[in-house]
Amino acid sequence: MRIVVDLTRCQGYAQCVFLAPKVFELHGEEGLLYAPAVPEDQGERVRQAAAACPVQAILVGEEVSAGAR
Ligand code: SF4
Repeated sequence: MRIVVDLTRCQGYAQCVFLAPKVFELHGEEGLLYAPAVPEDQGERVRQAAAACPVQAILVGEEVSAGAR
């Protein structure tokens, strides 16, 4: 499963980091790092993170293959 985070939307709320710390990581102010290729066992957490993101910056799976990469 692949994800893309729209970093122009991301406001660094860190909801995703809280829900899926193995995939998302915040470095300093608004510096979000993430793993574009999500490990199998993290899929559910990442979906929860995408749903919890206040600005819907996280695009998951199908949405990604339709767009870039
Ligand atoms: S939850 Fe959304 S806004 Fe917050 S750090 Fe993650 S991607 Fe950015």
